[in-house]
Amino acid sequence: MNRRSLTLNDFYHQFPKADLHYHLLGGVRLETMLSFAEKYDVELSELEAKCYYRAHQHETGKIKGGIEALTFLYQLMREPQDYYRVLTEVAQDAYACGVRYIETFWNPSDTLISYHAVNQALVKAIDDVELETGMVIRLIPSINREKSPEQAVEMVRDMLTYPHDYVLGIGIDYKEHDAPVDHFWKAYRLASDHGYRLTAHCSEFGLHWRNVETGIELIQTDRIDHGYTIVDNPELMHKYAQNGIPFTVIPSNTYYFRQWPEHKDWCEKHPIRTMAKAGMNIIPCTDDWHIHNTTSANCYRVMVEDFGFDLGSLRQMMINSIHACWMPEKIKQQWLQSWCSEFDMLRQTLTAEPQIAASQLIEYRR
Ligand SMILES: [Zn+2]
Repeated sequence: MNRRSLTLNDFYHQFPKADLHYHLLGGVRLETMLSFAEKYDVELSELEAKCYYRAHQHETGKIKGGIEALTFLYQLMREPQDYYRVLTEVAQDAYACGVRYIETFWNPSDTLISYHAVNQALVKAIDDVELETGMVIRLIPSINREKSPEQAVEMVRDMLTYPHDYVLGIGIDYKEHDAPVDHFWKAYRLASDHGYRLTAHCSEFGLHWRNVETGIELIQTDRIDHGYTIVDNPELMHKYAQNGIPFTVIPSNTYYFRQWPEHKDWCEKHPIRTMAKAGMNIIPCTDDWHIHNTTSANCYRVMVEDFGFDLGSLRQMMINSIHACWMPEKIKQQWLQSWCSEFDMLRQTLTAEPQIAASQLIEYRR
């Protein structure tokens, strides 16, 4: 590579990344959704399918939510090889964006086939991907909080009946309004008692900061997914900045994006900036890759171009992502060393550093 020949766009694609908040079915390609419909004789026009993808919003005139897309997709996936296909395609797309590690959520209580059958298919895909590319993927079975707490316990029991080294912990997602995380304490307790790590979507959709507090203090999660309304309680925000609990944040897709459609408004007032300024441990992630029309490269690009973080901030967030992941400490130490030197080497070959207005600039270091 010539010295100083790398564009910023290439840089965002090439530096090593870990995505710790990735819903497996959010990464289903449009053509894959259509081919599942065809395979199982489900009536689905291309235009109907496009309604689930934000990239086609201008064409369809509407967008169904990410949750609706996931619910629909689980009904379309009826054989283990469907899960194998989705995970290998997810890996291909992520690999092209410099992603080296993914912890991916899937919802065992939503599948039409058994936990064991899906898990085996995912494990096979993970082995094949790692053999081919070196990329590492691990699994987080996730509670569908729109279903009952008993179904959540059932999910953990399945994990205990069919344990596998690639299954690192549990999460919870779907609509939070009537289902705060404490309703599911029993599933979390059972998972924790058996050595699983814990994370939870809390205070998504602008819901009260109390949900984050409940997740951390009562359920004792290792991480929080989203958690933006923590900014409404500065005292608690500073406490979590001090103790360093990781928050996965989604710069390219949040409730706030919809609330504040005016670009200038939402990037300046967005809680991600406030969380970073308070010194919280944040990690940018993609959430629902194809459904929300984003990528890991785009995610970090948005952090710079829309949110005003410098490249040193991205390096810090990359480091955060390694520390916050659930791989063994020895591997994390190796990644810290090699990813940082790769980041620095690529940065030295940039044609130019991003230009960020002084009034907007954030130099995030921890
Ligand atoms: Zn999510």
